[in-house]
Amino acid sequence: MAEARPLLAELHDQALVALDAYFQAFSATRMDADELAAIQSLVAAAGWKFAVSFNDSRVLTLAVVVPAAFPFAPPRLFVLDGPGLLQWPHLEENGLLCVYPSQTSFSTERPVAVVHALLQEGVAMIEQNLAGNIAADFRAEFVSYWNRSVETAPRVLSLVEARGDSRAVYIWKGQKDHVVADSEAALRRWLDHRFGSSAKAAKYDITMALLLWLPAVPLPADFPKNGADIRRLVAGDAAALELLGKAIVDESIDEVLLGVKTATGTGFGSVKLMMPPKQDGVGRKHDPINRGFRPGRLPLKFALQRGLAPASKVWRYLVQRVDHEWIHGRDHDARQTVLKGKRIVIVGNGSLGSTLAELAGKAGIGNLHLIDGEVVEWENIGRHVLGAQSVGTFKSVQLAGYLRANLPHLQAVEASPEVAEAIDVERLRDADLIVATSGVWQVDSLLNHLQQSQGLPPVLYGWLEPNAAAAHAVYIPGQGGCLRCGMTDTGTPHLAVTRWPDDGLVAVPACGGAFTPYGPAELAWAHALLSGETIRCLLDPPGKPHHKIWVGQTANWAAQGGEVDPRWLDVMGDPGAGGMIRDRDWPAAADCPVCRKLAKAA
Ligand SMILES: [Zn+2]
Repeated sequence: MAEARPLLAELHDQALVALDAYFQAFSATRMDADELAAIQSLVAAAGWKFAVSFNDSRVLTLAVVVPAAFPFAPPRLFVLDGPGLLQWPHLEENGLLCVYPSQTSFSTERPVAVVHALLQEGVAMIEQNLAGNIAADFRAEFVSYWNRSVETAPRVLSLVEARGDSRAVYIWKGQKDHVVADSEAALRRWLDHRFGSSAKAAKYDITMALLLWLPAVPLPADFPKNGADIRRLVAGDAAALELLGKAIVDESIDEVLLGVKTATGTGFGSVKLMMPPKQDGVGRKHDPINRGFRPGRLPLKFALQRGLAPASKVWRYLVQRVDHEWIHGRDHDARQTVLKGKRIVIVGNGSLGSTLAELAGKAGIGNLHLIDGEVVEWENIGRHVLGAQSVGTFKSVQLAGYLRANLPHLQAVEASPEVAEAIDVERLRDADLIVATSGVWQVDSLLNHLQQSQGLPPVLYGWLEPNAAAAHAVYIPGQGGCLRCGMTDTGTPHLAVTRWPDDGLVAVPACGGAFTPYGPAELAWAHALLSGETIRCLLDPPGKPHHKIWVGQTANWAAQGGEVDPRWLDVMGDPGAGGMIRDRDWPAAADCPVCRKLAKAA
């Protein structure tokens, strides 16, 4: 009996047979193993090469190469006798022509049509290149071509604001990475966040660099190779030349970040300048920059000519932007200018608050203050951001360190494990929003009292119903009612989606041990609700107390013994299958013992 062949191999072979037939029309020949190896593609399984005549009567040899995973991985088009690197846009070192963006979807069922389209697009692209229409593509993708032109490490990580004038900036030169920023404080903060603010780390050696804006996007042929090229790139910019001249005389700067506005956004490259040697050919010391002039009297023109000479090589470095606006929205998220400056305090860093803190940081909220006095236990790690490595450490302290290290561009992530000290009006007053996620009524009640009596900033309270059957987010701006207006004096909300026998609690064999079982999948809906509300309350805060509820999927919580609370049915109606967001005004109670009493006393 014949052995069944795997389906994928069958499909691959069928595709090759179809392509053989297709390529006959081109008088193409199958490439042999040596030719495929020479092309240095990923792992080439098969290839066809053929000559194509172009409009200007040039004939080029093209090759279509498919990998072993074809038709489930794309075919590639190569120009076997094309020009060298950076002569044409979209042409890589090994002759690969990047016809489509890498995320492009293509049919896995019509291999011949896919190859045909690739060839058509590729040939059209080559026609454009041969006709000399290359500048626009080169300019639009400046960063790709600059990075491809880079010959040497290190990388430069840039925190500088992608706007403003040409200016002096601050630089730290690590072994693998150089980091640049607009201020020494911003640079030190990033380094402290990234590498930890130990005493050793605090000794980062910070020096100066320049940021120069180029008036036009250079083509690869104009990427600077020597000092004179740098002068040429900023020739019309007196301020930039002044900065360069001063840096040369001071010997204060040898790295220059080059910023450029492209049609698709701001790009950066960086160069290291090599000053002329301070020894002549026979080893005698001399001063090639200042010679013939008294100290401080060297005219700018000479400084530039001598410091940025055709013989002075420059090294191009690759730049990766690590600034806030790039990381959060690639310069295209207008909310970031606001969120970056906001400060939130998260009281309670457990299963709800720890993920909220992480989402808040990833959303770009620039200042986070985490308050929690509990220690990470083994039984926490199934629903907490922190895991086994953090067991035995303070949740707040460890989480803050984790967020600083992973989002080092944030302005501040601080932690307070001393909850009683941290919940203090003076310390909380400058927050834009306090998010209360401890699930402890006494803590929420304290925040509510402080807000109503002493003017805390707005508070967003978040809590879960048993088994994470529903999640609540209540925003109290400070006037128009308070948290207690909708709660009993022991923190039972007047309105809940579900009710449970024994409050849904499950006992565990420990003193006072009880919890409600739910996993991260149910919890994720609560995280989405609360992080969404946090951002909304920062950007567009409601003017009065507001209540938003995630109603979990009924099938999940009903199976665990929950039922719809009769009052919910009265007020909000039948939740049906659940899985929905509801919202309403948070009611102000005429007889509230907190906010009404204070109003009367006033
Ligand atoms: Zn009240």
